[in-house]
Amino acid sequence: MRLAGAGASRKKIRSLPIETPGTKRPVHAPSAADLLAWYDRNRRDLPWRAGPGATPDPYRVWLSEIMLQQTTVRAVAPYFVRFIARWPNVDALAAAQLEDVLRAWAGLGYYARARNLHACARTVLERHHGCFPASEVELTELPGIGPYTAAAIAAIAFGARTAAVDGNVERVVARLFAFDQELPAAKPQFRALAAGLVPRKRAGDFAQALMDLGATICTPRRPACAICPWMNVCAARRRSDPETFPRKARKRAGLLRRGAAFVAVRADGCLLVRSRPARGLLGGMTEVPTTPWTNDFDAGRALHAAPDLSHGKPRWRRVPGIVTHVFTHFPLELVVFRADVRAAAKAPADARWIPVAELADEALPNVMRKVVAHALAGRITPRAPGGLVRAPERRLAGK
Ligand code: SF4
Repeated sequence: MRLAGAGASRKKIRSLPIETPGTKRPVHAPSAADLLAWYDRNRRDLPWRAGPGATPDPYRVWLSEIMLQQTTVRAVAPYFVRFIARWPNVDALAAAQLEDVLRAWAGLGYYARARNLHACARTVLERHHGCFPASEVELTELPGIGPYTAAAIAAIAFGARTAAVDGNVERVVARLFAFDQELPAAKPQFRALAAGLVPRKRAGDFAQALMDLGATICTPRRPACAICPWMNVCAARRRSDPETFPRKARKRAGLLRRGAAFVAVRADGCLLVRSRPARGLLGGMTEVPTTPWTNDFDAGRALHAAPDLSHGKPRWRRVPGIVTHVFTHFPLELVVFRADVRAAAKAPADARWIPVAELADEALPNVMRKVVAHALAGRITPRAPGGLVRAPERRLAGK
């Protein structure tokens, strides 16, 4: 239950003192009331967000927070609307088939989230009688909910006085205090600084206000300091170098992996696909057969891994160009082979034929949509790209 609506008195809202050592404290403490007043005037109208003064629905808050992990608001919005129309509450989602949830998720990326989403809905139904728990501790015990998501749900859905610290909030906090310790090592200090800002009342609105500030004003590049509600207390603005915060340790880029993908097209317009193992990268999703993706891929031996199509006599031909895709931990390059085979061609035991026209209903991840589009010269259109670039429990700027 939210503690106070959007119209709560500004006089009653106070921030805790900031006492974390090692920061260059602003002359005046940032005022939660100033941020909330700005939020009341400028809040983003998002499909999962309760209206001013309305009680948030924990199911919608949870669903949106899971979808928003590593993904932009723009990419998530249409998926959220479709999910809510099809599964309007946790009971409905728990009763759904996992395959249907994966299909509806296809294109949003990070597919472990979809499996956890389904598992979480069932757990909430079985363990909590269909009601999300309000405590952060109990929330983190649910599938797919880490510390950030638990804090966001606790604050937004239940008004808990807790700080939900994602990439946007880290950026705002780092600039506000010109906090020069590096991420990710200094995450606990960032959390402490953010926690000190949370007011006693309207904690949910405050969490969303910070998210909105980071997404629309305190952006990674060219922050709009002149219209920021905290411009007078911001240490980085006074130093004129806000873009240099937050400080980050240099990331080691993942090693490039390479492989081959095989697109077999039957004379009756069907395409050969298989399901990936339930666990691991793209677990349970649909793919065309491929070689393993490795750092030492040998293109000259790729055809040894081509699927065996009895009665099909495939003649594989290399499709010019390569398909590239970037996963969280590594970039991938795939060469694509295509074979047009007879209608009598039989699928290997671990694969199946599906009509090309029905591909859009498959749980086909973006990398496979790219492969198929490449092989079929654009006969299917990749769905929304999902904008996925960060590690779990982090969210993108611009959300
Ligand atoms: S004044 Fe500028 S740098 Fe500081 S919090 Fe506001 S937008 Fe960010």
